Amino acid sequence: MFTSRRKRIESPAEVGISSGVIDLLKVIDAEYIILSSQDMVLENSQGILSLGILKEKWIGSQPIFNLVRAVRRSGKYQEETLELPRGPLGSGTRDLLVRVTPLGSEGLLGVLIFDDSEFTRLNSMRRDFVANISHELKTPIGALSILAEAVLEGSNDPAAIKKFASRMQIEAVRLSDLVQEVINLSRLQDDDPLQDAEVLDLGVIVRSAIDECRLSAEKRKIDIVISDVPSCFVLGDQSQLHMATSNLIQNAINYSPESTRVGVAVTCTDSLVEFTVTDQGVGIPEKDLERIFERFYRVDPARSRETGGTGLGLSIVKHVASNHGGDISVWSLEGQGSTFTLRLPRAKDLSSLSDESGR
Ligand code: ADP
Repeated sequence: MFTSRRKRIESPAEVGISSGVIDLLKVIDAEYIILSSQDMVLENSQGILSLGILKEKWIGSQPIFNLVRAVRRSGKYQEETLELPRGPLGSGTRDLLVRVTPLGSEGLLGVLIFDDSEFTRLNSMRRDFVANISHELKTPIGALSILAEAVLEGSNDPAAIKKFASRMQIEAVRLSDLVQEVINLSRLQDDDPLQDAEVLDLGVIVRSAIDECRLSAEKRKIDIVISDVPSCFVLGDQSQLHMATSNLIQNAINYSPESTRVGVAVTCTDSLVEFTVTDQGVGIPEKDLERIFERFYRVDPARSRETGGTGLGLSIVKHVASNHGGDISVWSLEGQGSTFTLRLPRAKDLSSLSDESGR
């Protein structure tokens, strides 16, 4: 606890702060403290308590107290961005913009605290994303440039040109897939599928996702076994749900050896619709399980490149799930296989909705 001289408790009104000022502080998007001339807290916002800055009626954070003292010395407004511990344990921090200003002639001080942690987190995510995407784009672009050079050099050798041209085609497809997935992801971050939600039959969406993946499954002699895909209704966006379900089925195919099976099922409970995809593939090491939903995280980058993966598929699935009020989970055993489960809130089916509207 850091205090200067302590004196009797005073109320804001006693020292000339009108209730109008307090009302104004309450609607500002910041936490606030009003300090008496003895640095005792006269008034504070409710949210300040969760920041762990106060100790009873005094400021318990040394950096904030230092700022208060600096304002007392100078008699002028000052602000500082402080990185303060989130709690007594661990290394988590919060980024706080703290503004301290003298209030009137009675030695009162106002402390306004803006929690910039979310802004800082989003900024650092954006920076990471830009760094990652630049790196991801450089690989196919670099390959295309080397291949173009090889084509030029081998201009008298039709067989070599054919070989390089077909590799150029693969890199061009990779580039276009990557750009498409980045567009998909950024749309997902902007769109709220529940705003113009439709009642959709997840069974129909899953069957169409299976059809889309069937060709690549056949190429690898993988059997897609549909155990049960009944009509189960959810509220949401058809193209987002198609994208999520086909990403999960395509991954099951990509990360499985030839001549294995991929099982697909849709089940409904009272309140949820569950879509599961099970494979007999390479599985995922336990240490990677938490990270596979991050953008560009791959367990085995070489394998992902081989299958034409962009490293964005599962983060797209995670976004779709959370945009729809659902979630995605995974069970996996290395060398044995994986099961991904997408759970979505169940909607009443169309017929029962029209029954109700006809009543
Ligand atoms: P990618 O485009 O690389 O497939 P994803 O975001 O779809 O990217 O998946 C991230 C990583 O998770 C993959 O690179 C892979 O290592 C792992 N993964 C995803 N699905 C499976 C699966 N069914 N079996 C094994 N590993 C998987």
